Amino acid sequence: MKAVVIKRGREKSLLRRHPWIFTGAVASVEGRPQSGETVEVMLADGSRVARAAYSPASQIVARVWTFDPGEDVSLDFFRARLSRAIELRGARARTGDPGAARLVNAESDGLPGVVVDRYGRWLVAQLLTAGAERWREVIAGELERLASPAGIYERSDVDVRAKEGLDKRSGLLRGAEPPELVEIAEGGCRFLVDLRRGHKTGFYLDQRENRAAVAEYARGAEVLNCFSYTGGFGVSALAGGAARTTNVDSSAPSLELSRRNMELNGFDESASEHVEGDAFAVLRRYRDEGRSFDLAVLDPPKFAESRVQLARASRGYKDINLLALKLLRPGGVLFTFSCSGLMTSELFQKIVADAALDAGRDARIVRRLSQAEDHPVALPFPEGAYLKGLVCRVAR
Ligand code: SAH
Repeated sequence: MKAVVIKRGREKSLLRRHPWIFTGAVASVEGRPQSGETVEVMLADGSRVARAAYSPASQIVARVWTFDPGEDVSLDFFRARLSRAIELRGARARTGDPGAARLVNAESDGLPGVVVDRYGRWLVAQLLTAGAERWREVIAGELERLASPAGIYERSDVDVRAKEGLDKRSGLLRGAEPPELVEIAEGGCRFLVDLRRGHKTGFYLDQRENRAAVAEYARGAEVLNCFSYTGGFGVSALAGGAARTTNVDSSAPSLELSRRNMELNGFDESASEHVEGDAFAVLRRYRDEGRSFDLAVLDPPKFAESRVQLARASRGYKDINLLALKLLRPGGVLFTFSCSGLMTSELFQKIVADAALDAGRDARIVRRLSQAEDHPVALPFPEGAYLKGLVCRVAR
């Protein structure tokens, strides 16, 4: 069989069951495997330790499917892995339920490159790697069998596919076309989701539990919701009894959907302001105008895509946190997030601390947040933990 052979001394992470094999750790590739083909993973002493998907275009030249070198990577393999992932989600996985959930979380569910989210009766799939692409039809067929959705829509229209030598792709994969907007229920709120054009697979499901946390702090508050997308945190805040929300985003279509979501939940138009613009500029303007808020949410996009961008990203996080902290009234609360996997919790906390110092605010962490429970992190794969959040209360 075709194989990648690991360099002597470079097998440590593999033996700890980390699923990524970098080009630098590979001594040789045997048998000319094609992109996405399953290969044996062999150590320098000739022992076989895993089976992996080969991806010649990527720095991550192979991703492990199974650490059982005797396990066939076949239809049965995908059936077993997908059904285990779906089972783990319990009631959230049921297509009869009006909610939404991540059913398959890639590496952390033992399926590198495979992301599947459920929105009501529809599934949205992302196939991000050469291996996932190779098994596309099998994965789609098994998802259909296991979850019985009305349809499966593919959103493999992401930049990371280029690193795997793959083109972007989106469109109907199985079953019926989804409606223009799919309505989902979350924590007593309702949201319209655009499966075709929305970010990621349509909605930031990873923030579900954090939206609930915002609701807990929102009673009577004037809320500043920055990077508001389709209004997730704003709707939750109003559901939690917020007096008013100001939602800032640079995307006009996202703000439009946010307005519709507020309306769908029965909140008066006058309770929500929608501001299109660069959050950095808008917050500076609010500072100059002397505006203030009781609760601020900062959920920016990934500022750091690579290690070289980390320093610049850190400045971005610091600036936006500094500005938001300045706008908080005494006793106010900041919900601040980073979804950059490269940003560690330690570094993020330090950046927020520096921001508070420069803003002249005395603040303390009252809660730490992470990604929702249907976005699990496999223990050997710490990269799976990308979302971190701090709830900080400013002194009176
Ligand atoms: N909090 C949202 C998700 C935010 S995603 C939720 O829970 O649903 C990040 C958002 O930031 C996107 O909607 C994107 O349009 C917006 N964005 C990106 N750069 C921005 C900028 N400089 N100023 C304002 N919004 C920005």
